[in-house]
Amino acid sequence: MVEFHKTYEVVGWAYEADLHCRECASKRFGEELEIKEMIDREGNPVHPLFLDETQQDDACGDCGRLILDLI
Ligand SMILES: [Zn+2]
Repeated sequence: MVEFHKTYEVVGWAYEADLHCRECASKRFGEELEIKEMIDREGNPVHPLFLDETQQDDACGDCGRLILDLI
């Protein structure tokens, strides 16, 4: 039901050279991820992944599920 979501909605997170779903990202960084900037293991900032930049086949690097299947 992608059409009912806003394009600027955060659907996942990008860190450690991979994409991650919100569930796996919050397990890794905690709920604070939504409100404060986090740094990944490689020393890079964790970027929010917005709905309008997500590709159909983008999958979570942790659980392997498609990002767009989880929203
Ligand atoms: Zn995941």
